[in-house]
Amino acid sequence: MAIFSDIGGKGYNLFEQERLATFRYWKFSDDLPCNKFALSAAGFYKCNTEKDGSDECVCFYCGKALGDWDAEDDPFKEHKAHSSKCKFINLGRRESELKVKEFLDLVESWCLNQMNKSMGIEAEERSRAFNTLQGIIEAKFRK
Ligand SMILES: [Zn+2]
Repeated sequence: MAIFSDIGGKGYNLFEQERLATFRYWKFSDDLPCNKFALSAAGFYKCNTEKDGSDECVCFYCGKALGDWDAEDDPFKEHKAHSSKCKFINLGRRESELKVKEFLDLVESWCLNQMNKSMGIEAEERSRAFNTLQGIIEAKFRK
């Protein structure tokens, strides 16, 4: 399954270093509270990697998207305030401070969420395709 073979690869932003790399351009300097290091430590990666793009950031774990950041914002506090059920932010520490077991548990539940999401979408698509086909068949027999 692609999900597992790609873990740690590009695109999932599971690791703080990967998330940090998405902040090629960030509107606040590193000495301000809302800097790229604090954002990536708080689980966020930047969606738009263009220089003049939006400042929207998304949590790798819960998928919460936040934008319109202020220089004084604390990314950890903002994340928790807007997504109180996020398992990652509720650990309350950055990646380097997590125990291996905590990080593995996090990755495990992340994988399960990804699988549930993709299976949910496939099930929906199958159901829609079946209903369409059923409609076509019924219409043919009515004639
Ligand atoms: Zn989150």
